Parts: sequence; structure tokens; C-alpha cells
Amino acid sequence: SDILLHRVLPFSKRLISETVLPGETVVDATAGNGNDTLFLAGLVGESGRVFAFDIQQAALEATANRLDKLNDRVALILDSHANVDKYVTRQIGGAMFNLGYLPYAEDLSIITKPDSTIEAIDKLLGMLKKGRIITISVYDGHEGGAKERDALLAYVKSLHQADVHVARYELLNQRKNPPFLIAIEKVREFEAVVRV
Ligand code: SAM
Repeated sequence: SDILLHRVLPFSKRLISETVLPGETVVDATAGNGNDTLFLAGLVGESGRVFAFDIQQAALEATANRLDKLNDRVALILDSHANVDKYVTRQIGGAMFNLGYLPYAEDLSIITKPDSTIEAIDKLLGMLKKGRIITISVYDGHEGGAKERDALLAYVKSLHQADVHVARYELLNQRKNPPFLIAIEKVREFEAVVRV
């Protein structure tokens, strides 16, 4: 479309699609129903690899169904994204987070949590290629959401400006608690350690 000020989810995809290259390895930190996993699998192409994490088996099943023929370029991992370094051992071309709970799930109390979210972002920043981006769609309308938002904002603001550029993007006139976007661009190689 010719819209410039996209809503948050399409805008995060746009940022990722402008940086990720075919053949690269990327991470979907919150597979959910597989929307971003499918998108990433398309971007990296046949020779690329997507590592998709979720702590709910039902989410990985939904994602697998959605992927259909693209399954062979995706590793579906039933574990917390905080353990990403156990599975991903090469440099990555990008990563996406979509925080909060899985829409339409049986148990809506299963949500992303501040400590594991921050640990995952920090580890992924270490693996990220220079000039690449991590997108984080943040929901703060549900119970626990404000706590995660505040911890996350404190963490990203503590990152050194010589290491990364951190931007926040949001539409201000949307109803019903829409997400806002945090985008982190790595601008030089650095040693990542959890700072919060
Ligand atoms: N992007 C997904 C989509 O396209 O459908 C939606 C993601 S949903 C908002 C958030 C997901 O994060 C849920 O499926 C939830 O199970 C998952 N999650 C929660 N904590 C997690 C963790 N520590 N590691 C990985 N996934 C987690």
C-alpha cells in the first residue's frame, strides 16, 4: 500500500524486510500463531534459517501448520527465548518479538515476562550483525504488561548510544491498547551483558 505511517506490526515487518538478506539466519522470539515466522521464512528464502521460539506447544503447532511447505527452513523450539544461545550459535540478520499473550489461546495468563524478555534481547544483540535490527512490539494493556513495558524501557535506555540506536514508534490515535514498537539497530560490535 502507499501508507507511510503504518500500524506497528506492518511497520516492524517493513524495517526487518529492508535489512534481512536471503540465506541469513534470523530469530522469531515469540512464534505465537506464526505470523512473523512465516514472514521471516519468506525473507530468508530456501537457503536461510529461522529459529522460532515459544513456551507453548499449541503455539508451535499453529506455527507449523501455517508454515506448510516452508517448514524445512524453520526450527521450531519449545523453550524460552532467554535460552536462545543454546540453539543459535551463528550471527543473525535480525530478530522479532511480539510480546504479551497469545491471542485466542486457552490460557491468556501465559505472557512474556520482563526478566526473560530482557535476557533474550541482550543475548540477541550480541549475535546480531552490525547494521541490523531487532523489533519488539510491546503491549501494555493486559495485566503484567505495564511492568514489562517499564522494565524494557529502562533496559533499552541503558544501552550505550555508540553500540545501538533505539527508537520508539507508535500511532497515537488508535483505540483498544494497540502495541508500540521498540526498534534496536546495532551500530558497532560490542560485548552484550544484561544491564538491568
Ligand atoms: N507473533 C505471534 C503471531 O504472529 O501470532 C504472536 C506472539 S504472542 C503476542 C506472544 C507469544 O509469546 C505467546 O505465544 C507466548 O506463549 C510466547 N511466550 C511467552 N513467554 C515466552 C518465552 N519466555 N519465550 C518464548 N515465547 C514466549
